[in-house]
Amino acid sequence: MDDRRRDVLSVEQALSRILAAVHVLDTERVPLLDAVGRVLSALVTADRDIPPAANSAMDGFAVQGADVTKANPVRLRLVGEVSAGHPSGLAIGSGQAARIMTGAPIPSGADTVVRFEDTRTDGGWIEILTAPRVGANVRAAGEDVRAGQAVLYPGKVLRPQEIGMLAALGCANVLVVRTPRVAVLPTGDEVVALDQVPGPGQIRDANSYTIAAQVQRYGGVPFVLDVARDEEALIRQGVREAIDRGADLVITSGGVSIGDFDLVKQVLASEGEMHFWSLNMKPGRPMAFGVVAGVPLLGLPGNPVAAMISTELFARPALLKMQGHNDWAMRKVQARITQSIRRKDRRRHYLRVQLHETAAGYDARLTGDQGSGILNSLVQADGLAVIREEHDHLPAGALVEVILLE
Ligand code: AMP
Ligand code: MG
Repeated sequence: MDDRRRDVLSVEQALSRILAAVHVLDTERVPLLDAVGRVLSALVTADRDIPPAANSAMDGFAVQGADVTKANPVRLRLVGEVSAGHPSGLAIGSGQAARIMTGAPIPSGADTVVRFEDTRTDGGWIEILTAPRVGANVRAAGEDVRAGQAVLYPGKVLRPQEIGMLAALGCANVLVVRTPRVAVLPTGDEVVALDQVPGPGQIRDANSYTIAAQVQRYGGVPFVLDVARDEEALIRQGVREAIDRGADLVITSGGVSIGDFDLVKQVLASEGEMHFWSLNMKPGRPMAFGVVAGVPLLGLPGNPVAAMISTELFARPALLKMQGHNDWAMRKVQARITQSIRRKDRRRHYLRVQLHETAAGYDARLTGDQGSGILNSLVQADGLAVIREEHDHLPAGALVEVILLE
């Protein structure tokens, strides 16, 4: 392939090609609390009614509704007490009442609970001061979930409320989509590992940690490989190690720009089916994507801002899809850009902005120098303001979409 020939793609085209090559992983059974945020892969049905029996929604007196809804005040004889977790053999007849606690089973004969506040106690008798309707304050057996009912379906993202429901259904372990293992491979002669002192002209490997942190945030398990020098054999070795160690996705940084050594490109073209793209975006124009030995590989640019934004735009949806999610829309808000924007390149720009809430909505303020090497522009940022291709000029105060980084 000619070094300079690459497809020019929009962000959407690139993403849809990536997603087409990425598949949902297989499943695993995990302890309930490890399933938070994961995607359920089995149908969960109820083994029993919840609640298992009619019980009281209030602290009060269990009575026969017909006794108390007619005349006021009514006097009833106190015949016992039921508390939660202690079913009683008590039977309530006409003219009788039993003290009952929230969650306690309704004794036979009773169908209504009168709250303590609506009664007065007088020795072995109670007086009903306010008439309830028949059936008041009684929760029916199975009113939450019925035995045999399908409660949670495959594909459901498990939030705390679903975890609670699974606990109520007795699921100590749940079948979910497996977590992707993601190899992060930094490249570059000038890049040194975190545990080394950079020599002249060297920089520390920031990208691998930004990317690994994003992978972690989006549900993957990252592992960072040794920095591969700008040598074909070493990059090849890194990619093979990633695959040998069971990566479900490989993310490299550096070495994909035109005029660079274009090494990742050469290696990948010989190792698998690879595509080299010039994306119509800024930062993050060059990118490689392909499948090596069945494993998808994203070759991201080395500039730290470009690497992070590319991970956000392309690796995040891929990771979510692998985990069985079907919604990877980014959270966005509308905001007013506080300074005018002029550019002529017709690319989609992702500007780092701070958001400030005003009475009229959000203001988006640029976080200083927008160079693709200025990692601090991201450190200061709450979000990425999206300047669409067609806008050569946006006046101060214009509304823009801001992708939230939180
Ligand atoms: P490249 O894409 O390899 O041409 O790299 C573009 C820029 O990103 C260069 O200034 C590199 O020094 C820098 N860079 C590459 N890899 C990393 C990394 N892992 N951490 C921080 N900066 C990097
Ligand atoms: Mg490089």
